[in-house]
Amino acid sequence: MTGSDLVVHVKQSPNHYWGRAGQRIWILTPHCVVGQCTAESLGELFARPARRASSTYGIDKDGRIAQYVDEANAPWTTSSYWNDCRAITVEVASDTYAPYRMNQEAYDSLVRLGADICRRYGFKRVIYAGNLWTLQNTAWPADALILSCHRWFAATACPGDWLLQREEQLAKDITSEIEEGRDLTKEETITLIEERTPTIVNRILDELARQRRTDNEMPKWAGVEDEFDAAHEHGITDKTRPNDFPTRLESAIMANRARDNAVKAAVETVKAMFLTDADSDVQATG
Ligand SMILES: [Zn+2]
Repeated sequence: MTGSDLVVHVKQSPNHYWGRAGQRIWILTPHCVVGQCTAESLGELFARPARRASSTYGIDKDGRIAQYVDEANAPWTTSSYWNDCRAITVEVASDTYAPYRMNQEAYDSLVRLGADICRRYGFKRVIYAGNLWTLQNTAWPADALILSCHRWFAATACPGDWLLQREEQLAKDITSEIEEGRDLTKEETITLIEERTPTIVNRILDELARQRRTDNEMPKWAGVEDEFDAAHEHGITDKTRPNDFPTRLESAIMANRARDNAVKAAVETVKAMFLTDADSDVQATG
């Protein structure tokens, strides 16, 4: 079933059209269930053929997301063949004592689900159409997902005044969630590692240097031939003056080389930690 990874319960409803009459998805229609429901109870309701109703998704009072109709098929939700062929629809539970008012958990899940749909279909923003005429007569940008309302198509209070007053806010909340919840691309991950790792490593090295000064201890390799060779192997000294003690300037240069090498090694190590095998070409060239 084509759908969202956020789904925790699936119950296929027989109540839907097959396909979408050739239309692409560009509308999201949030509906509101009067009173509370669970992901399971709503699924049972839509599973009955006699009910002749369904929605693509359901969100229960605890914010759990269920799927009842494949996104490839038009659901029977909005009393409009035109809308449902173009829309993903979501039935959202509301408060028992305040019909149409959504719990915070349910609203947050609606935002997350909306953003997930946007990411999967390549939408960069969400716009509330405002009314039926505007919905149907605007040349909407291809990168925008448009919010519509059930009550524009039928004599119903759905989605209720509570959500109706928040449609603009919902559009904004989903739009900002698109970026927030997005996975970093491989290039962005590499940039982030290359920018942040040196700062972190330098902070650690500063702390070690501070402790060394406090302990007033000479590094062991300073007077030992083997250790001097090891330092050369690590690129810390070029051994141009192997027979004398290094001058103060040479020591400073060696210390800086050691620091640069430590940072470079750390960047490579962190890259190896965060990039998968499929990205290993980057590690090789990095
Ligand atoms: Zn509705």
